[in-house]
Amino acid sequence: MPDAPVPGASSPKPAAPPCPICGKPVPTEGAAAARVRPFCSARCADVDLGRWFGGAYAIPGPPPELDEDPPDSSAGHAGARYRG
Ligand SMILES: [Zn+2]
Repeated sequence: MPDAPVPGASSPKPAAPPCPICGKPVPTEGAAAARVRPFCSARCADVDLGRWFGGAYAIPGPPPELDEDPPDSSAGHAGARYRG
């Protein structure tokens, strides 16, 4: 029974993973498809973007540094660069 799954051996074109939003097959050809990958359409891409802004995804990396208390080293020179 030569039915053993051999990844990347028999299929000339690897199948793209389904859309992570709706699960539909993602088109692999065409400029329009390339712009919305890995999603199936611009609509699903928008849904993913909305999740990012909604905080559904965790962004890896250190937290952003806050400059609420900068060191007082170069004060009093604002505007001098615009002269002559
Ligand atoms: Zn989709």
